Amino acid sequence: MPHEADFQFSLKPIGTIHSCYGEKFGIPRQPGLVKSATATLELLPPCNTPDALRGLDGFSHLWVIFLFHQSADHPWKATVRPPRLGGNERVGVFASRSNFRPNPIGLSVVELLGVDGTVLRLGGGDFLDGTPVLDIKPYIPYADRIPAATGAFADDPPEPVNTVEFSESADAAIDTLENEKRPALRQLIADLLAYNPRPAYQVNDPDRVFGTRLFDLEVQWKQFDRAVQVLKITEQGQSRK
Ligand code: SAM
Repeated sequence: MPHEADFQFSLKPIGTIHSCYGEKFGIPRQPGLVKSATATLELLPPCNTPDALRGLDGFSHLWVIFLFHQSADHPWKATVRPPRLGGNERVGVFASRSNFRPNPIGLSVVELLGVDGTVLRLGGGDFLDGTPVLDIKPYIPYADRIPAATGAFADDPPEPVNTVEFSESADAAIDTLENEKRPALRQLIADLLAYNPRPAYQVNDPDRVFGTRLFDLEVQWKQFDRAVQVLKITEQGQSRK
């Protein structure tokens, strides 16, 4: 009798995420942090029938179970260094929400903004654009909300510690680039950069320019201490998946 640990099976994505995050750098660490971020979840054949979503619109939130497809071929280690601990201290991979895991599976709870046929509109989210979705489950408050739960080193949400200013050229760019394809662009950039996406080990180099992909845009910014300045926003064609 093979040991159950040898049990292997293949999973077929039931859907795919279309999100504003064109690359991993800069994506919030958990779904509810940047509320101005929206995403859609499009069901894929053979699940793409409205019947499969019947009644779902009665729930305010969903669990989305997905594949960390961009880290799937990255070797995992028994310990990881959570950014919440400054990127130095190690904890066990199963005591973390790291995307580098033996089975690269993510779990996010998101607001359900609406159901359009076989496309779900989601509020928040921490998904890279193109993320394969393995399953969707309705959030059931009586079962899923545990008021007495404690979260160790991740008990409180990370603080949006940065101030975010826009240069004149970035300001002007937003006026033309913000549209229904890129909703709440200014708010999204400000919310995102407030959470200090700069890697913990990055020294405070006032001249270093960072680039973050949002929608089909490249947002260039620099940071000194807690002050972020958005320098430039340019269209880049397809998002980098
Ligand atoms: N909420 C999920 C969970 O707890 O399982 C994900 C938490 S994980 C720390 C969130 C990070 O995963 C994001 O900041 C981003 O860097 C990364 N990520 C998101 N989508 C991904 C994908 N499709 N492939 C690889 N990494 C991804």
